[in-house]
Amino acid sequence: MPQYTPPIRDMQFLLYEVLDAIAQLKAQPAHAEIDAQTINSVLEEGGKFAAEVLAPLNLSGDREGCTLDRATHAVRTPKGFKEAYAQYVLGGWPGLSKGAEYGGQGLPVIVNQCFNEMLNSANQAWNMYPGLSHGAHAALHAHGTPEQKAMYLPKLSSGAWTGTMCLTESHCGTDLGLMRSKAEPQADGTYRITGQKIFISAGEHDLAENIVHLVLARLPGAPAGSKGISLFVVPKFLVHADGSLGARNSIFCSGLEEKMGIHGNSTCQMTLEGAIGSLVGEPHKGLHAMFVMMNAARLGVGNQSLGLTEVAYQNAAAYAKERIQMRSLSGPKAPEQPADPIIVHPDVRRMLLTARAYAEGGRAMAMYTALQIDCMLASDDEDERKNAADTVALLTPIIKAFFTDNGWIATSACMQVYGGHGYIHGSGMEQFVRDARINMIYEGTNTVQSLDLLGRKVLGDNGAKLKKFGAQIAAFVEEQGTVESMQEFINPLAELGDKVTKLTTELGMKAFGNADEVGAAAVDYLRILGHLCFAYFFARMAKVALAKKDSGDPFYTAKLATARFYYAKLLPETAALIRSARAGLAPLMEMDAVLF
Ligand SMILES: Cc1cc2nc3c(=O)[nH]c(=O)nc-3n(C[C@H](O)[C@H](O)[C@H](O)COP(=O)(O)OP(=O)(O)OC[C@H]3O[C@@H](n4cnc5c(N)ncnc54)[C@H](O)[C@@H]3O)c2cc1C
Repeated sequence: MPQYTPPIRDMQFLLYEVLDAIAQLKAQPAHAEIDAQTINSVLEEGGKFAAEVLAPLNLSGDREGCTLDRATHAVRTPKGFKEAYAQYVLGGWPGLSKGAEYGGQGLPVIVNQCFNEMLNSANQAWNMYPGLSHGAHAALHAHGTPEQKAMYLPKLSSGAWTGTMCLTESHCGTDLGLMRSKAEPQADGTYRITGQKIFISAGEHDLAENIVHLVLARLPGAPAGSKGISLFVVPKFLVHADGSLGARNSIFCSGLEEKMGIHGNSTCQMTLEGAIGSLVGEPHKGLHAMFVMMNAARLGVGNQSLGLTEVAYQNAAAYAKERIQMRSLSGPKAPEQPADPIIVHPDVRRMLLTARAYAEGGRAMAMYTALQIDCMLASDDEDERKNAADTVALLTPIIKAFFTDNGWIATSACMQVYGGHGYIHGSGMEQFVRDARINMIYEGTNTVQSLDLLGRKVLGDNGAKLKKFGAQIAAFVEEQGTVESMQEFINPLAELGDKVTKLTTELGMKAFGNADEVGAAAVDYLRILGHLCFAYFFARMAKVALAKKDSGDPFYTAKLATARFYYAKLLPETAALIRSARAGLAPLMEMDAVLF
């Protein structure tokens, strides 16, 4: 069975040595009292919960899966999931970063980011049950009426109830404008919603007493397409004004999907037969309101792959030190044994370091982004809030798509380190690969993320958000440009920054001529920007590691070696990607569809 050790040292390195998180948080009135001791104890306790309670349920949860009782529509989660959830609620974990006004603990989002990474490493399928509640909470917080907030937010904060997002229908996934579910207004101000949703994560389960579904549907006479979709909150059990539970609402699980991975999470077909709901936000503006949840979920999905990358790496690294096969090409390294441990082989190291670099680069970027969210939510300076919001908007599709593509590469590489043993269920490695695959698909496929990045976030505002983030990189390049020991990082970083600027301008011009040019280049472009971000964060980490390299602490030696590996072996991928992005539309569209 795979083992998991929470990467607390690396999180502390980022918090206190790279990102200077305490000083930044303390400048925000809501976090004026925050200190390292509080954060450290949350990381320690959260890490224990992840490693000791959740991780042991991952393999068994995968094997057992969820079961649906068709007569009652009840879904049973794998053995131990319910008890773990009860422990999670008892520990106050659901409300870690939620506002105190609704019963949360009000800790910074960056702390929750670290906690969630650990939960994802331990058990992605389990973490999807509470995971969706965060986005449901955020959407209701942003767009709910005072009554809706009072009714739902305290229960979502405490974890007594969980949330879902009900968007997808069998004929409409990416294109939500095709949606058919209907909402009929009632005389009492509520709505009766009818329709069939599919693929709804955590749509039904036995962990919490109520489930708060956020459902997209159309009002009578709604405009066609995505401008005619409204958002409704539809509880599994209706809720009385005093907060107590009432009758069972007519929204129920009519089928469970059989799928490639995340078996411990219920992926439900949900049937609504005149289910009672209330409108969230304005009529026909449901997609706008839902985007609050979708953006939170996109960051959450990137974080899922970060967690999987870390745990896969840890296990593959341990295995590579123990498994003996063949001798090193340059002569025996463990002559006392009949063969050398496979970690002596350069290509095994390539696979391990790829996963390690994607985990460490991803962690730095995710924690940086979480700090921007803290600033966006809690700074008392309007300009700071706006700048932080722009950065988060720019980085969200990159975190979703780049992390999940990397997660797929990394988990597959780590499985490869195990050879045939990685392909066998008991090692746990093939589960990481299967679990990682969905992260590239849901919450908007990675293609859709890349279109959002290049089309909306970059070209859509004439590159303003990118310029703002690029200015941070340029300032770092300027600051470190004359430091001899940093040249190996600064020169390639500056060079890539220039190339991105040129490429962006070039793609913008092409897109003027033909909007399809965006679609032809977007996936390459997102990956190039992902690498630009990782190069920036690795350079920042290397700066600290270089300053501490004589401290004797092997942590810094390893950090520097990982940064060098990243720059030497992974970053060069950008040269091919830039070439591919420049190739444009013609090679993709030349062949007539009938010839496929
Ligand atoms: C396990 C699981 C859990 C899920 N959980 C939820 C959930 O909780 N709630 C929910 O509402 N949904 C959920 N989904 C649905 C998920 O979000 C969708 O599957 C996803 O958004 C893609 O939609 P689709 O499957 O209909 O694919 P389609 O939209 O049919 O896309 C098919 C392919 O076409 C590509 N494509 C589509 N449009 C374009 C375009 N304009 N340009 C380029 N390429 C394009 C896509 O990228 C994809 O590769 C889940 C799905 C799964 C499998």
